[in-house]
Amino acid sequence: MSFELSSEQQQIIQTAKKVAERHGPDYWYEKEENHEFPQEFFDTMGEVGFFGLGVPEEYGGSGAGLTDLIIAFEAMSSGGGGLAPVAACLLGPIFGCSAVLKLGTVEQKRKYLPDLISGKIRTCLGLTEPNAGSDTLNISTFARKEGDEYVISGQKVFISLYAESQKMLLVTRTTKRDEAPKKAFGISLFFVDVPNEAIQYTPIPKHACNYFKTYELGIEDLRVPQECLLGDEGMGWYQVLEVLNPERIYGAVGAVGLGRLAIRTAVEYANQREVFGKSIGTNQGIQFPLASAYAKLECAWLMCLKAAALYDRGGSIKEVGDATSMAKYAAVEAGVEAVHNAMLTLGGYGFAKEYHIERWWREIQLVRLAPVTQHLALSYIGEFILGMPKSY
Ligand SMILES: Cc1cc2nc3c(=O)[nH]c(=O)nc-3n(C[C@H](O)[C@H](O)[C@H](O)COP(=O)(O)OP(=O)(O)OC[C@H]3O[C@@H](n4cnc5c(N)ncnc54)[C@H](O)[C@@H]3O)c2cc1C
Repeated sequence: MSFELSSEQQQIIQTAKKVAERHGPDYWYEKEENHEFPQEFFDTMGEVGFFGLGVPEEYGGSGAGLTDLIIAFEAMSSGGGGLAPVAACLLGPIFGCSAVLKLGTVEQKRKYLPDLISGKIRTCLGLTEPNAGSDTLNISTFARKEGDEYVISGQKVFISLYAESQKMLLVTRTTKRDEAPKKAFGISLFFVDVPNEAIQYTPIPKHACNYFKTYELGIEDLRVPQECLLGDEGMGWYQVLEVLNPERIYGAVGAVGLGRLAIRTAVEYANQREVFGKSIGTNQGIQFPLASAYAKLECAWLMCLKAAALYDRGGSIKEVGDATSMAKYAAVEAGVEAVHNAMLTLGGYGFAKEYHIERWWREIQLVRLAPVTQHLALSYIGEFILGMPKSY
């Protein structure tokens, strides 16, 4: 076991920090206020090759892995971006690259990976449905086979960046839940071209992270060729975990990065702000909550690295899922505590937009409920790690 970073990883962090200097809190403040997609940041990701960190060299990536990817995104996040670099970029390395790399045929990999790495193709994830929510296996969007095509109809909700993407990883049923031998069977994944006229979309006004839009979708008779099937028909639930686990690790990384950024901001403020003739940082009531949250963030970061390392090593879905659930839960709890205490440290200025913390406080709420809620992460830990009864 080594806690040393390789020279390549140190180089990645240097690059990430430079990116964060150019796309720091003020950049994201503007994007949030103007509800504007961070195109410049996204282009930079393609230029510095970060989307390709998890992709083998034969497909144009750097061959590094998820571990290096999260090291890069944590550095951009804690370096000034907060949750934004992670939240705005899921549609690059995770929904696109991980999905095609893990589930695609050689032809699909050759066809899509170079454009996914450069950022030319953005991929959104069409999973959540109004009547399913956390009960993913209850989705009812259905893909009916008709000759060489599938005809897909259904409804999706909270689909981020649908209209800004070129591809959607669409999760459907190809066998109805009550006709499947086991409810996890009969789910299939499609890698479809979007926007498409068979898909109606409506933006959902939202609380935070307005630098990307989130939509409700109505899909009616969307015709896709057989080649759009990603992975094996009917086995999509087991296969989509190859994408959902990295997505959850990635969410955890955003919480750690944002938490570290909030603490750094609070410490700088506490050390210079004088009240009652001394810096507020000399009060244990200010210092201890920050120190406590910081310690928890560091522990959570180790769990994120472990989960990513298991994924890179080709660990089983259970091994990766266990580490991922614990990393996601712990990182989000620590991140929420960090941002909360940072906000209190700034007193009234914590409420003022120009100090950024109020925006980070809104942002961190997202990872409490997505990509999986904290409750459901605990249910997983209770059932699959502790061996307790299924609670959902
Ligand atoms: C801004 C945003 C962006 C998103 N982007 C995407 C996207 O791009 N693609 C996509 O597919 N989805 C996306 N989502 C959806 C997100 O993953 C879901 O909102 C999330 O999984 C929770 O589902 P739900 O909202 O239906 O909540 P529900 O499942 O209805 O849950 C509501 C509450 O009940 C709790 N609960 C439910 N069952 C249990 C139980 N058995 N035990 C304890 N508590 C329980 C939950 O934890 C939660 O607190 C996004 C969501 C948001 C808010």
